[in-house]
Amino acid sequence: MKKRLVLLGPPGAGKGTQAELLAEKLGVPHISTGDLFRANIGQGTPLGVEAKGYIDAGNLVPTDVTARMVKSRLAEADAAEGFLLDGFPRTTEQAELLQEMLDEAGVALDGVLNFVIDEDIVVERMLARGREDDKEDVIRNRLAVYHSETKPLIDHYGAEIINVDAEGEVEEISQRVLDAIK
Ligand code: AMP
Repeated sequence: MKKRLVLLGPPGAGKGTQAELLAEKLGVPHISTGDLFRANIGQGTPLGVEAKGYIDAGNLVPTDVTARMVKSRLAEADAAEGFLLDGFPRTTEQAELLQEMLDEAGVALDGVLNFVIDEDIVVERMLARGREDDKEDVIRNRLAVYHSETKPLIDHYGAEIINVDAEGEVEEISQRVLDAIK
């Protein structure tokens, strides 16, 4: 089983839901940068205060702040044998920083799961989810950011990409994910 994975795909593709299920099965942590930011916002930490404006607008939080947060999370003991990175990297610059972190730790990614889904479906899902940044204009901006900044990662990772059909029911997608990492 592959255990050091990046989850890629547009916002609203269901990465978080699938990562939760998979983390449980593999016994590795689900590391979601969005969740980490939201926890910091909830606790009113300086990191949360800094990140909030970007998140509310659907823009990316600056890379130095984000990468520092990821680096310290990856250094925790529970991530030593594996991790599911959800929402990071989101740019090729972040992918290069991740590579440096992994090189330093002497480990390598086992693969990059790319969640493939129709854009109309992700907009519907996000509007139904109703998170604070799930307003129509913010959603539109997050999709634009995905296209310009994050989608190039599919080419960046090339042969490491494992496509997963992310349309359908949670259980069937979960089965596809398991089949994909065997
Ligand atoms: P998510 O929960 O992955 O949809 O992330 C929610 C928001 O957190 C994004 O719209 C960004 O504002 C911010 N965010 C999450 N991950 C990153 C990242 N890797 N780089 C920059 N900003 C991020």
